[in-house]
Amino acid sequence: MNTEQSESDLIIVGCGIAGLSAAVSALQGGLSVTLIERAPEADFGGNTRWTEAYCRMKNEREISDDFEEHFAANAGWHVDPNVLAVVSDPYGDWPAYVRAHPFPDPEVISTFAASVPETIAWLNGFGLRFEPQPIYLLTQNTTRIAAKGGGLALIERLMQEAKGLGATVLFETTAVDLLRDEEGRVAGVLTVAPDGRRRRRPSGATVLASGGYQGDQEMMTRYIGPKARHIRPVARGGYYNKGEGLRMALAAGAAPAGEYGSYHAEPVDPRSRQAEAVVFVWPYGILVNKRGRRFVDEASATVDAIYDNVTRSIADQPDGIAWVIFDAQVEDIPRWRTSIRSDQPAYEAETLVALAEQLELPAAELEPTVAAFNAACPPADGEFTPFVLDGRGTTGIEPVKSNWSRPIVKAPFRAYPIISANCFTFGGLKVNPDAQVLDRDGRVIPGLYAAGETVGIYHQVYTGSTSVLRGAVFGRLAGLHAAMTPQERRDAAE
Ligand SMILES: Cc1cc2nc3c(=O)[nH]c(=O)nc-3n(C[C@H](O)[C@H](O)[C@H](O)COP(=O)(O)OP(=O)(O)OC[C@H]3O[C@@H](n4cnc5c(N)ncnc54)[C@H](O)[C@@H]3O)c2cc1C
Repeated sequence: MNTEQSESDLIIVGCGIAGLSAAVSALQGGLSVTLIERAPEADFGGNTRWTEAYCRMKNEREISDDFEEHFAANAGWHVDPNVLAVVSDPYGDWPAYVRAHPFPDPEVISTFAASVPETIAWLNGFGLRFEPQPIYLLTQNTTRIAAKGGGLALIERLMQEAKGLGATVLFETTAVDLLRDEEGRVAGVLTVAPDGRRRRRPSGATVLASGGYQGDQEMMTRYIGPKARHIRPVARGGYYNKGEGLRMALAAGAAPAGEYGSYHAEPVDPRSRQAEAVVFVWPYGILVNKRGRRFVDEASATVDAIYDNVTRSIADQPDGIAWVIFDAQVEDIPRWRTSIRSDQPAYEAETLVALAEQLELPAAELEPTVAAFNAACPPADGEFTPFVLDGRGTTGIEPVKSNWSRPIVKAPFRAYPIISANCFTFGGLKVNPDAQVLDRDGRVIPGLYAAGETVGIYHQVYTGSTSVLRGAVFGRLAGLHAAMTPQERRDAAE
């Protein structure tokens, strides 16, 4: 047994939505809490500080109709039917390899989905509100509401609540390892203080809410490959998430979950210093790489459904960059400018050759690319309906463009450069429905919880607008579970 004096009942690594939700729910349950945060106080909150916090919901009480379905459809590549056959059995009967499987298991996802309304109601209790808000996506295939005041309002209010309930918050302090007792129970963390000194911080239990590894080039390269050199965090908060939480848990025997080789991608103007300087106008033009060639169907479905894949494919292009080329007909699209958040102007020219010169693209390639695309567009018939998939697909070219194909002919011709920015990485830890971290044999690692990006649930295409919810829900589940008495845990298990 650990004989060190605990400095608090619960240590939480990270002060984003996940860490703060864990903290406040644990404090409400009567635990003493220490929050460890690597950023200075003025910049705490990682990714959550920068998000508008869209949530895949119809309203504050109902999740979107496709919430669980989207997770099931993106459960991983070629999921073994033997695994799927087992998951309809009671959880207690699942074999170890299924409990520890990296896929988003239905027990975890159904708990996630079921817990969203009560978690939002809990946040409402602090005066936080969620409502429909304008978005940069001109076409959507699901329902979304967003936090009033964005993620910043969430973390500021929860931080105020945590401090009011007596939490100790250590800024500019980085957790670098887990403490374990002889029986393997996680018994706290090892931290590095602003002066570089290491300190053991024993605690009754630990929550890892330290995000993913988007801020760590070594892990990005290890898991995502050499193209990681072209991929940067979509906002400054991502630089704080360097993967220590994942590394220390994996070293302690935790099961990995989520797709380690992937990330949620956003199409961003590389010239801009702004957070989330997105450019989402490309379904109405074409995307070309630096060789002046198309490489992807720019409009296979609504933009919210495809931008993850399309944007990741940009990272695979030479130098990890593409340009959207469009023309003056864009003015037919109401609110088209809202799809662009870059503060940098479009490149603009009266001819394609002049545009190519500005972009430093080979005009001898760009011109034939556009000519071939134009020739493949269907004849214009009827009204152009930019917000409804119109089936106006190209014929005879590869790759096809499936919707909204109109010849690019009307000057001025315009372009924006786009890179594949990293919103967050998909690789995380496997947890059970109480946010307890599981080991590689599907057993609970005593004393260890994970929440938010540190929990791995995404594969293939991100189930959009669920990551803030993942933080709030699993953070709260961790805090609630950590605050339960042994008797309450036994009762809950029955
Ligand atoms: C611009 C932008 C827009 C987004 N839009 C949406 C959206 O609309 N809807 C949605 O659902 N999601 C969105 N996301 C994603 C979502 O915001 C995040 O995935 C989510 O907020 C992550 O919450 P978290 O608490 O897990 O991590 P974070 O908020 O990133 O917090 C992690 C914290 O851990 C700290 N930390 C990291 N390592 C250590 C360590 N070793 N020791 C101590 N502290 C450490 C960091 O400093 C940080 O404060 C967006 C993200 C960005 C950047």
